[in-house]
Amino acid sequence: MLEKIVLASGNAGKLREFSRLFAAKQIEVLPQSQFDTPECPEPYFTFVENALAKARHAAKHSGLPALADDSGICVPALGGAPGVLSARYAGSNPKSDSANNAKLCADLAAHNDKNCYYVCVLVLVRHEHDPQPIIAEGIWHGQWQDTAAGDGGFGYDPHFYLPDHGCTAAELSADVKNAVSHRGQALQQLLEKLETCSA
Ligand code: IMP
Repeated sequence: MLEKIVLASGNAGKLREFSRLFAAKQIEVLPQSQFDTPECPEPYFTFVENALAKARHAAKHSGLPALADDSGICVPALGGAPGVLSARYAGSNPKSDSANNAKLCADLAAHNDKNCYYVCVLVLVRHEHDPQPIIAEGIWHGQWQDTAAGDGGFGYDPHFYLPDHGCTAAELSADVKNAVSHRGQALQQLLEKLETCSA
């Protein structure tokens, strides 16, 4: 039974969110900074490979089970881009949400197919060499909207139109977004898998 896990991220918001959810399972979530974990390279083309690399890296440095996430937006008309490059689609010096959004608007201008989806993959390893990581994935479908709307959320949210809600992800309340988003779905799936497997 898991009692403590390390989160393979330096993001305080993610630590808060994961801590709250895992507290309900009597699992304490610790930041990887507590174990002087250096940044982990994310050289892969898939979310699952990058999340797995980050989880193994955090487990190695902490000696604890580790949880990592990787997420981004994929556009089928662009062969799945930006994908794992979502955070730095328009370059990484500096990373900029508005530059990323402007680039995606430009790249999609000549396409009629505006379908897109967010992906979130969560990976939990019990130790660095765990042969059977627990993997969960959430997918959230939307339509790319050229005009930005809303000031909630982050990243690509002002352009991510949700026909079911009649608004963009940036116009949803945080509670609604967390309940239905790719991240919310992946978390729910991970918690269900934890219930049924011998973690
Ligand atoms: P990370 O996995 O948290 O590093 O996110 C990777 C990148 O994907 C972010 O920097 C955003 O560009 C994009 N992204 C992931 N999830 C979301 C979301 O919920 N809304 C908007 N953009 C997102």
